[in-house]
Amino acid sequence: MDNKFIVETSARHVHLSEHDIEVLFGKGATLTHKKDLSQPGQFACEERVTVVGPKRELTGVIVLGPARKETQVELSLTDARTIGVSAPVRESGDLAGSAPCKIVGPCGEVEIPCGVIAAKRHIHMTPEDAERFGVSDKEIVKVRIESERALIFDDVVVRVSPSYALAMHIDTDESNAACAFGACTGEIVK
Ligand SMILES: [Zn+2]
Repeated sequence: MDNKFIVETSARHVHLSEHDIEVLFGKGATLTHKKDLSQPGQFACEERVTVVGPKRELTGVIVLGPARKETQVELSLTDARTIGVSAPVRESGDLAGSAPCKIVGPCGEVEIPCGVIAAKRHIHMTPEDAERFGVSDKEIVKVRIESERALIFDDVVVRVSPSYALAMHIDTDESNAACAFGACTGEIVK
């Protein structure tokens, strides 16, 4: 059976809490669906924000929906250095002690005391996929990226849930390092 999976590049983005959506986009505002993402229920929004650090700012940063419990900003380490924040490499949602920033929208701004991370590279998969690959949730694996600049990434965390679809997610720094653009696949190497 085919043991390859698609590798998708996550560009810089933010997830917003319902509270922060209203602060940034106005009272009663909700996110506007633009495009479905590979993970079921996740979508890119029409809304854009500016992420402001001590040194510089990033404009036109896409908002991903749906709303989350806590606002989270996912940047590449190059982005983080550019705006002057020190983003730790974390799994999504693990925000304690992560970097602060300001987020500016058309109707207001929020200062988040933490929430800026560089997402830890990961593979989403269903329990059936995990069984097929012989891996389990939270396991750390190596993945060989198939490209003209093939690269083996270590420290890839496996995330298993029935609500996921099989796909590996890397950020733009990692994608550039591996030329993982367009239709790109990877496989777990042991
Ligand atoms: Zn992901």
